[in-house]
Amino acid sequence: MVTRAVNPGEPFGWKEYEAAAASLLERYPFIQYEKIGRSVLDRELGAFQIGRGSREIHYSGGMHANEWITSLVLMAFLEELAEAEAQDGQLHGVQVRPLLNNVSLWITPQMNPDGAELVIRGLPAEPAVAERLLEWNGGRTDFQSWKANANGIDLNDQFPAHWEKEKARRDAAGPGPRDYTGDAPLTEPEAVALARFTAARSFQLLIALHTQGREIYWNYRDLEPAESIVWAERFRKASGYIPVKLEGSDAGYKDWFIQEFGKPGFTVEAGFGVNPLPLCHFATIYQEVSAIMLEGMKERH
Ligand SMILES: [Zn+2]
Repeated sequence: MVTRAVNPGEPFGWKEYEAAAASLLERYPFIQYEKIGRSVLDRELGAFQIGRGSREIHYSGGMHANEWITSLVLMAFLEELAEAEAQDGQLHGVQVRPLLNNVSLWITPQMNPDGAELVIRGLPAEPAVAERLLEWNGGRTDFQSWKANANGIDLNDQFPAHWEKEKARRDAAGPGPRDYTGDAPLTEPEAVALARFTAARSFQLLIALHTQGREIYWNYRDLEPAESIVWAERFRKASGYIPVKLEGSDAGYKDWFIQEFGKPGFTVEAGFGVNPLPLCHFATIYQEVSAIMLEGMKERH
């Protein structure tokens, strides 16, 4: 049996992500890779592309530090797609090559590598960086509940979609493990990279993976197109996840995507439990979420 490039047997920190990425690109030369930016602590942010169709879609993950399992889900999905493409095989009973004739899929699996490292391996070695992170974490060396980037800013509160409302609602005084929006939208390099990457293409559909709740957020201030609810229903059938019409939330990546481009955008809250979800949940989460992602690649009905 050939060893997989993406190994769901260990926490998916930076070196695991880098090794999996290198291995995938070496095995499957038809996967394209693009650097889209660098994190606060200078780690490379990347986008992977597979498929040759005209319909561009985007799946993103790893934005919240203690939701790193979403990066693993996306990389495993990319590997399964590539494998099926190479062997003219199937995924969930669906022939993959015809799908990839119609779709060009872009995956940004790890949008907060510094945060994931903090959750998985704890404080970085650089004393000045470690000192401020420790302070922002209330003196605790346990970073299991950390969601933010290395500046203590929540990347999913950084997008210019009624950002001021979100800032007032969050009421966080300054940098910390979660909920701090920063002093302005798009101050953080990870959010800037994602916004620029998105604006440079014409994505017809976006799925942003988070954990947890087994829910699908599909709307934003009535700006979403009519097809959004239809997709959400299709995703429910594929996964059992419940579509939820969310109000009182702004400045998220999918909010901005819907507002700017008028295309269907979704936050999928994968799995159920306490973040970070343990690896023993991976197989179940992967089964559910890969079914949603495969559905998103099919034709509109
Ligand atoms: Zn999240």
